[in-house]
Amino acid sequence: MQLQTFKASVLADRLHNVLLEELRIRADFEKAELLEDDDLSAWSRHESGACGRAAYCDGIPYTSTPPLFASSKMLKASWQQGWIDAEENAEMSTCPHCNSDSGLPCPTHD
Ligand SMILES: [Zn+2]
Repeated sequence: MQLQTFKASVLADRLHNVLLEELRIRADFEKAELLEDDDLSAWSRHESGACGRAAYCDGIPYTSTPPLFASSKMLKASWQQGWIDAEENAEMSTCPHCNSDSGLPCPTHD
């Protein structure tokens, strides 16, 4: 019982932090659009990709793009690319051909 309470608390904190991060990235992206700030826009897309990578590691499905990103074509694409990159990294880390002595990725993961 106490363990379940602990897990719920940890999950609630994680969800809270993820939502705050997504909100901050979305706000930065909108600010970049308004100010035509290409650097901030690129950084926002980079961070959206990082959220996608983290989502893959947390077991979030590819089709579950966060609503704050899903309504922006660029943020959605960045999040999805991050998710795909994380999936590929996970596959490559367990691929015996990628982890051979050659030091080169196999044809499938090249
Ligand atoms: Zn491989």
